Amino acid sequence: MAEGYEQVIFCSERAAGLKAIIAIHDTTLGPALGGIRLRAYASEAEALTDALRLAQAMTFKAALAGLSYGGGKAVVMADHPIAQREALFRALGRAIESLAGRYIPTEDMGTSTADIEHVRKESRFGVGRDAVYGGGGDPSPMTAWGVFCGLRACLEEVYGTAEVRGRTVAIQGLGKVGYALARYLYEAGAQLIVADVDHRRTQQAAVELQARVVPPEEIMTQACDIFAPCAAGGVVTATTIAHLRCRIIGGGANNQLWTDEDGDALQQRGILYAPDFAINAGGLINVADELGPGGYRHERAKAKTETIYYTLKTLFAESQRRGVPPHRLAVTLAQERIQAVQSLRRLNAAVL
Ligand code: NAD
Repeated sequence: MAEGYEQVIFCSERAAGLKAIIAIHDTTLGPALGGIRLRAYASEAEALTDALRLAQAMTFKAALAGLSYGGGKAVVMADHPIAQREALFRALGRAIESLAGRYIPTEDMGTSTADIEHVRKESRFGVGRDAVYGGGGDPSPMTAWGVFCGLRACLEEVYGTAEVRGRTVAIQGLGKVGYALARYLYEAGAQLIVADVDHRRTQQAAVELQARVVPPEEIMTQACDIFAPCAAGGVVTATTIAHLRCRIIGGGANNQLWTDEDGDALQQRGILYAPDFAINAGGLINVADELGPGGYRHERAKAKTETIYYTLKTLFAESQRRGVPPHRLAVTLAQERIQAVQSLRRLNAAVL
């Protein structure tokens, strides 16, 4: 099942209540960087599938963002009440330390900077640290900024101008990424339509950002320029595509397409899709910056995040040239970068 992955380890420490899987997909470009997800999985098989899928996505995300990191992910199975988070994440930290830097964790769904600090008590590895420890803190605002920059590239592709003012954007999910994105768009003059299952968030957006609130089940059918998925993945399906009334899809959520064929269907319907792992790489860029020369530099991370605009411009231009839809080409470009580095290594090894 884990064919094509460099390493997959199962970690278990009964006293700490730890049951976890660490999947390292590819370290050609550098150590595998990726979050620790804490979730109640129905089975070990489900947890393994999630770890593998997420680790591979991290490889593509880092490669396309031009980072010198590979892809990895840890999933912690929360199939029982967690008595003590410190003990749990220290135990995971010991497993991470045993990998000697091949996997560098950060936070993800269900985990926070505090958990990373517990990992760091047992391991030298872990980023996405709080500012008091010299880190960049919560990466979500940077993810949102990257999405905003990427959406400007999408607007330019579809309308010939990157101007946000006057455009209508429907945002699904006003969490850490969605709300920050809504604010950037509002400040740039966009009109917002929003939905969240949490009414406090939509009410806040209505007051602060003059957003029009619609029920969650109606957000995908709104007439708009951009639909921005910022909640769960898998929302773009054969069923939902038929009802979309947008020109562009681009948002923070991971794995927005249910299947690759759904991406093809978007292109057939004339809807431009910004591949999720290309447009939402700002958070990864932000946490990776902690490992850069001199430690975390906000301005450097921001400048690098802004290159997402150019990544998407290149992707769309190449997509036209090669006649391949953006979601498929994004994977190909990431793989091409990795293969080029592998070839160079083989050549160097042969010469030596
Ligand atoms: P979050 O939990 O802070 O926000 C998610 C929001 O979506 C919540 O407000 C929730 O109430 C809402 N929501 C849930 N179901 C909904 C539904 N059916 N309709 C409308 N709203 C719904 O999470 P986040 O950190 O903002 O992440 C959002 C997405 O972006 C996730 O898919 C995540 O994997 C992805 N992502 C996040 C980052 C980051 O830096 N946080 C980076 C890359 C990708």
